[in-house]
Amino acid sequence: MKIIQAALFIIALSISVQAQVKYLHCGHLIDGESSSVHIEKTIIVEANRIVDIRDGYTAVPDTAELIDLKDQYVMPGFIDMHVHIEGQSSPQRYSEAFRMNEADVALRATMYCERTLMAGFTTVRDLGGSGVNVSLRNAVNAGYIPGPRIYTAEKSLATTGGHADPSNGVKDELKGDPGPKEGVINSVEEAKKAVRQRYKNGADCIKITATGGVLSVAKDGMGPQFTIEEVRAVVDAAEDYGFVTAAHAHGKEGMRRAILGGIHTLEHGTFMDEEIMDLMIEHGTYYVPTISAGMFVYEKASTNPMYFPAIIRPKALTIGPLIKETFAKAYEHGVKIVFGTDTGVSPHGDNAKEFQHMVEAGMPAIEAIISATKIAAEALRIDDQQGTIAVGKLADVVAVRDNPLDDISSLQRMAFVMKDGQVYKR
Ligand SMILES: [Zn+2]
Repeated sequence: MKIIQAALFIIALSISVQAQVKYLHCGHLIDGESSSVHIEKTIIVEANRIVDIRDGYTAVPDTAELIDLKDQYVMPGFIDMHVHIEGQSSPQRYSEAFRMNEADVALRATMYCERTLMAGFTTVRDLGGSGVNVSLRNAVNAGYIPGPRIYTAEKSLATTGGHADPSNGVKDELKGDPGPKEGVINSVEEAKKAVRQRYKNGADCIKITATGGVLSVAKDGMGPQFTIEEVRAVVDAAEDYGFVTAAHAHGKEGMRRAILGGIHTLEHGTFMDEEIMDLMIEHGTYYVPTISAGMFVYEKASTNPMYFPAIIRPKALTIGPLIKETFAKAYEHGVKIVFGTDTGVSPHGDNAKEFQHMVEAGMPAIEAIISATKIAAEALRIDDQQGTIAVGKLADVVAVRDNPLDDISSLQRMAFVMKDGQVYKR
């Protein structure tokens, strides 16, 4: 009797393992590697991995599940290199820190996580928040909430009064004197301590605010805010943990110091000129354009004078519209471009609008897709696991109905989302 029970148990076990096998019949496949579209392929997924890719539509064994994507354009899950998953712009945003508890922020952000995943973004790099971003990452990884895989910088690093100083713009008795623990540094030693604190807090990467920024309650959006020695100290300390580093930068001198200091990705890059572009090419620095954020703040500042505090409006009006032009010049010049939106400035779930901005500014659609898949995985140093549809990689697969190479807006109408072999949308 015991032997029969054991045999039944083994049969049940093998059925449950086999039921995890999925055959995806793909009419069109953009694999993230090749610039041509493959026709009629079968992707075989076992648990959370791609285990085989075959020509034609392979017959599906009884024990496996068929996923019919014959009329769709199948791609690797998208990676957004610059989001802020905790929050989203609104006229109320500047008072939220005084009204919302961490639990409120976290619960609302579960909605942002879900919207991001349903838009086809299976991985994001979160470039700064309050620390709730670490909990959101853990909740997604544990399967508590649907969302993208999150690589987070936890809190952005700034210098005193800089773009990411959390006490900017508040009344004197609330200002305090934040230090490395809160992500504010004013020396090489403090820079190292702030990075190590991020590691301790559970960060996966590091972000600095190398110049002023648009949405902080401060006057200057462009000037440099770190010394080159401070940037170097951040990068060196980050490398000890294998962390990729990102620098927010609008003005030229801040960009120059960030690049020479060894920063891996440069965000926004608004006032980049040819000298900076050459420097980026020489140092292998990636450019993360975030055109979506520029367009969003410009639109809000020009149509609704009450949307942003008065100190922010002039910055939004000057910096916002320039980013798309900068992107066009950087692309022409041959700078390495990796997809990133700064979503959280613009609404979560609208991430794919960036593809349209990139194509309008002169980048071919296939290159825009590769910048959000293969190149993004390389920039995040996860290209052994993600970024292309290839045997052995994680089964992050998305699909749309209309050919994105003919109509890039098709990517804003996501039809199918699989992350880690699990189907979230079909
Ligand atoms: Zn940002």
